Amino acid sequence: MVLAGWRRGLVVAALLFSFGASAGAQKLPSDAVPAEHMEQYSDLAVRWMQEYLQVDTTNPPGNEARAAAFFKRILDREGIENQVFEYAPGRANLIARLKGSGKRRPIILLSHTDVVTSDPARWMAPPFSGLIVDGVMYGRGAQDMKCEGLAQLVVMVMLKREKVALDRDVIFLATADEEVDSTGTDWMIAHHRELFGDAEFLITEGGENLRDPEGVKYIGVDVAEKSPFWLVVTAHGRPGHGSRPIPDSAPNRLVRALSRILAHQPELKALPVTEEFLRQMAPSQTGRRARWFRDLKSALRDKRFRKAVENDESLDSMLRNTISLTMLSGSQQTNVIPGEASAHLDVRLLPGEDPKAFLEEMRLVVDDPNVSIEPENAEFRVANASPLDTALFDSFRRVAARYFPGAPVVPRLTSGYTENQRYRGLGIASYGFSPYTATSEEGATEHGDNERIRVEELRRGYRVLYDVVTGVAGAPGP
Ligand SMILES: [Zn+2]
Repeated sequence: MVLAGWRRGLVVAALLFSFGASAGAQKLPSDAVPAEHMEQYSDLAVRWMQEYLQVDTTNPPGNEARAAAFFKRILDREGIENQVFEYAPGRANLIARLKGSGKRRPIILLSHTDVVTSDPARWMAPPFSGLIVDGVMYGRGAQDMKCEGLAQLVVMVMLKREKVALDRDVIFLATADEEVDSTGTDWMIAHHRELFGDAEFLITEGGENLRDPEGVKYIGVDVAEKSPFWLVVTAHGRPGHGSRPIPDSAPNRLVRALSRILAHQPELKALPVTEEFLRQMAPSQTGRRARWFRDLKSALRDKRFRKAVENDESLDSMLRNTISLTMLSGSQQTNVIPGEASAHLDVRLLPGEDPKAFLEEMRLVVDDPNVSIEPENAEFRVANASPLDTALFDSFRRVAARYFPGAPVVPRLTSGYTENQRYRGLGIASYGFSPYTATSEEGATEHGDNERIRVEELRRGYRVLYDVVTGVAGAPGP
């Protein structure tokens, strides 16, 4: 991330202390749950997480029906209404619901049940063991995102067992295939939108709460994301023998076109989410950088800031449409000049961008009639964003102030793509929020080797989520 050089000064700490004291006085819903119940829920969270990690849902092929069966067994036992949809052999989604009074629209707790592949030879514990070593649990999905699905499950069980009066339905939705094609979510939206489409809010993966030895640096909530707009650049020219160079051959034209594209810097843009993110991060920066972060619009007029952006991948991806050159192809033989050569560009557009306008911009930059640029996929999913002034975002803030005092709650624009995009399209304010914290090393095990989570996170995370959800869904007490 951008956040090199974080330092929590003494003055800031003192200010936070007085703020923390008043914030701490605020009651959270879990304060009303007897301590011995909380102990039981923490034990359950650890045990169920181990069992869930032992369910192999490597995608491909997925086998998410196994995860749906795991959830169903627990939900049935707890008396929580649920349905499983096996939409293809071995591929299943599960939806469960706790009824509210209907005074407010539902909230969805969404998780995907599939995990990416793993190479056991590179792991210190088998990827589907859930083994605990020195207070750390290992398993594929420990970060992405069986941990969050598990916390969502425990929250459902708590709401039910503690007989919490709800003003809105709380919907637990576990879908297949997020890691490959999102067929699980697509199928649910296409066939059973009536079961959840009227929701007001959704929480799923995507947030990042960074921990270092000094404590929790920030609570990052994903509220917007960029959208992939992959392009194929194809150059045409006369083919020939490699022994007789052709100046305007297809490969030569392609290389010239690509160097024009790479030299082109798309315009820097200040979106509300980025302005707010940088403003929240400003106290962690020093000197000029702190000034830039406090006032992004002015910073964009500063040449030194624009230079700094070019050398900072995180800032760069937050502030502009980005272009990465990824695939190249031409001749199959060294001595053959091909008649066609092509390259693929991984382009990511900011929310609100018009893909047609961007394509036109690229064609102008290349300016060669023998080089064509076309989208790789016919379909473009417009990048979208969720508002910051919602009851759910307030709930994130309130709960974070208690569990992670002093850590700013920062809205983020992610450079990646999550299923939030699909649900926002239904009019649901969708957020990437994690109830856990992770060090940057732990976070990096997502999709990597030795994916893991500290047991103390498992014992606390469900409670954080319970307070967020009950804060926004619970009926006000008498
Ligand atoms: Zn994921």
